[in-house]
Amino acid sequence: MTDCVFCNIIAGKIPGQFVHQDEQVVVFKDIHPKARVHLLVVPRVHVESLAELTGQHDGLTAHMMRLLSQVARAQGLDNGFRTVINTGPGGGQEVPHLHIHLLGGGPLPGF
Ligand code: AMP
Repeated sequence: MTDCVFCNIIAGKIPGQFVHQDEQVVVFKDIHPKARVHLLVVPRVHVESLAELTGQHDGLTAHMMRLLSQVARAQGLDNGFRTVINTGPGGGQEVPHLHIHLLGGGPLPGF
């Protein structure tokens, strides 16, 4: 998806501040942070949103879930963290490439 901003970050065509990379997932800093720590956990494969996940993504989604606390600990979020997944226009999703917001380290915005 050449017009997808997150695919372009993953491909190195747009700069990203990566804090974690593995075979399936990258994690980089949100460009407009809403907390002291605001990261985006993003699969390398282009899946538009939660609504497009199928059984073939079960391994990937399990990996993303388990990675969250690992990354949070590495960022010093020992006291806890917030995760947010926006899905589709009705859920406020602006970038149509599945991602999990990982926030913490201070006051958090309300819902
Ligand atoms: P969402 O509304 O859930 O789709 O969130 C998209 C997030 O991507 C927003 O928090 C944006 O600040 C963030 N974002 C958009 N473009 C970039 C970029 N080039 N680098 C890092 N984060 C970005």
